[in-house]
Amino acid sequence: MKTKFWHLNKNEDIRTQLAEAAKLIREGEVVAFPTETVYGLGANGLDSKAAKKIFAAKERPADNPLILHIADKAAMGLLAVDLSPNAVRLMDEFWPGPLTLIVNKSIIVPIEVTAGLDTVAVRMPDHPIAKALIELSGCPIAAPSANKSGKPSPTKATAVQEDMDGVIAGIIDGGISDIGVESTIVDTTSLVPTILRPGGVTLEMLEAVLGAVEIDPGLLLVNQKPKAPGMKYRHYAPKAEMYLIEGVFAAEQISFFVNRATKAGKKIGVLADAATVSLLANSSQVVAHSWGNTQAELAEKLYDYLRCFDQEEVDVIVAQGVSEEALGLAIMNRMRKAAGNNILKAERGKLLLQRGTIPSFL
Ligand code: AMP
Ligand code: MG
Repeated sequence: MKTKFWHLNKNEDIRTQLAEAAKLIREGEVVAFPTETVYGLGANGLDSKAAKKIFAAKERPADNPLILHIADKAAMGLLAVDLSPNAVRLMDEFWPGPLTLIVNKSIIVPIEVTAGLDTVAVRMPDHPIAKALIELSGCPIAAPSANKSGKPSPTKATAVQEDMDGVIAGIIDGGISDIGVESTIVDTTSLVPTILRPGGVTLEMLEAVLGAVEIDPGLLLVNQKPKAPGMKYRHYAPKAEMYLIEGVFAAEQISFFVNRATKAGKKIGVLADAATVSLLANSSQVVAHSWGNTQAELAEKLYDYLRCFDQEEVDVIVAQGVSEEALGLAIMNRMRKAAGNNILKAERGKLLLQRGTIPSFL
């Protein structure tokens, strides 16, 4: 399949430029588009055949449901039944924005979209191109992240091309997704609203509106099955084996890890704070990125760094853990998954294996 590519010009009318993409969506095709979180792989969310094309393009397991994207809050009334007061409060407070709500589905939502569940995930993105595309298509757009299943999510159109060129009908280039990690998913059907995936809307922000909020134990405990089917897969993963070093002494242990890896002849990708990166030896064997100055900056660039390590063909990656406050909860969730749960704990002068495996060169 020849994939169309639309590079949008901000100075011209967005709707005119999106007309062809919207027509393809109406015809049941798959088109990738930008949102404020990551790029989505979109198709008509009320058309089961179109939804199946998303699963095929992504090579996504059929038990992993899709999120429906809408352009106005009223559309929720068509997709959901028995909406809880908490769901309404969250829509009022955080939509449009990086928050997905799990609600009881109405009969118009195909089971292919929900992977057979009685609930459906719905989000109203805060992005002018996503909004215009949904409106022009005249339907909710089912859209998971526009990467091949298991790989880091794309935050720019060229990253979508790496995974989807020749596989889908079109890609809309709308620049960089500035939040950079996927939406927060909150189950509003449980008695106490529960975070199934941390994201751009933080636990602290949700608590300020709702009072009590739970976190799905499956996110925190290795041997507990997560409630969002997608969270059980290794995800967001670069090609090289990745290790996450957590704890207050992580910085000193990153240097130790890098020394051991390079001595063993490995090319290593490093993601750490600026001070740690500046202390690393300047060598062609070390590809180092500093976090940046804020959590928001790290979230925005995280997937791009992981994809860049793939392009540099590093043999191994080491990342320094961050505090789990605010956006840090989402960042740590993605980094732990990218590391396939290879987690090391740094203590003064030593590195302990917490989960997963330890590299042979240590
Ligand atoms: P993605 O679209 O790639 O951001 O992934 C969507 C995430 O939402 C996956 O982790 C899904 O398992 C989760 N999800 C979608 N629908 C539901 C649902 N009805 N109940 C629980 N999780 C869901
Ligand atoms: Mg995804």
